[in-house]
Amino acid sequence: MKTELLELLELPRKLVHGELDVENCPHNGFFDLRDHTCVDCPQGPECYWLCRNDEFASLDKHQTDDLVKALDFAHTYIHAAIIRWDHKIDHCSCSVCQWYRRARSTLEKHSPQPR
Ligand SMILES: [Zn+2]
Repeated sequence: MKTELLELLELPRKLVHGELDVENCPHNGFFDLRDHTCVDCPQGPECYWLCRNDEFASLDKHQTDDLVKALDFAHTYIHAAIIRWDHKIDHCSCSVCQWYRRARSTLEKHSPQPR
């Protein structure tokens, strides 16, 4: 189960990384909770997510609950991206839409309430 979560976090990590504007970031994309420029940054939530969930954060040591939360955030993020791209979420065969459908069913297994 945990392996599945770790694997699912790979694609959003690449996407978020690709979309972050690190060149104009005073911290080079390393989120700092104590710095108000990070807290007020429009990219703040994605940046914070990425710093907590990148490959250097030794994700395999995280609790399953944390990974589910991380996946939940990614799921919302990817959903917004798919809407922006105007893909047919339930039928599209691109890797991102396929990912979304997998993530959705994985989250359903982990959460008691229906989505
Ligand atoms: Zn698609």
